[in-house]
Amino acid sequence: MGVVNIAQKRVRMFPARVLLLGGTSEAVELASILSGRTDVAVISSLAGRVSNPRIPVGDVRIGGFGGVAGLTAYLKAEHIDIVVDATHPYATKISANAESACSDLSLPLIALERPPWEMHEGDDWKVVPDMQAAASLVNHHGNRIFLSVGRQELDAFRGCEKAWFLVRVIDPPSTELPCHAALITKRGPFTLEDELQLFREHSINLIVSKNSGGTATYAKIEAARALGIPVMMIDRSARNGVTVSRLSDVLQKLTTIFESGLMTSEV
Ligand code: NAP
Repeated sequence: MGVVNIAQKRVRMFPARVLLLGGTSEAVELASILSGRTDVAVISSLAGRVSNPRIPVGDVRIGGFGGVAGLTAYLKAEHIDIVVDATHPYATKISANAESACSDLSLPLIALERPPWEMHEGDDWKVVPDMQAAASLVNHHGNRIFLSVGRQELDAFRGCEKAWFLVRVIDPPSTELPCHAALITKRGPFTLEDELQLFREHSINLIVSKNSGGTATYAKIEAARALGIPVMMIDRSARNGVTVSRLSDVLQKLTTIFESGLMTSEV
């Protein structure tokens, strides 16, 4: 048990119980770092989307909680003291749910969001707000599109009957591909050489991508730059709460919470 209520105050007891919402390489790394500490007990949570996920060190639970209500009930039942949201920048639903549940329970929430990629000289990006906007702009004869936006997002492109797509996903999609498409199932990280070869082999002349940030999938952006291929970049949604961008910031926030001696939601 991490916290007891004494005279209306939430007083910390070690180890503090941390729910780490994951599904990213940062969450795996964080679980590994925190596993070496005696002042925290971490439970990593995965959505269960991929068939062979990278399993973090330590305790792991897999599957949705059942919305805000389910997450709130889980946080109470497991006596969680702190939530760390280290989910992917485009996993907006779970992040919003974590904000609501932590706010309802006055629990501290530390949200880690990796910085987006930035345009460099030689990049040719068109930034669009969402998948539908991208789908409506790319559907032209002669377009040979590399699409690596995640299998849950493919629906938006199903009606694109003019363009040809090379779809790369981790697991085979359960929904239909666009009518002119080839499928590759492969997990990153990918090298620049991998991507250059792939784009040349398939005569790719347009790329549709999320602005995921990080290094694991950045090679496609570098390859696009090298080959002069334009990128249709799906923008991130604006986030409500405060975020930090580095693992060291998360560790610093945890220290701040511990040193304060009190758990409050304002960190
Ligand atoms: P999402 O749209 O924000 O979440 C949809 C639902 O999935 C949530 O409401 C929640 O279900 C469940 N969920 C999501 N992340 C969870 C977690 N870490 N633990 C337990 N339940 C979780 O998220 P998504 O885009 O489907 O992404 C799912 C997972 O894949 C995330 O963990 C994310 O970090 C990872 N991921 C996403 C992307 C991407 O581009 N979206 C890329 C790489 C990795 P309930 O409402 O039932 O609790």
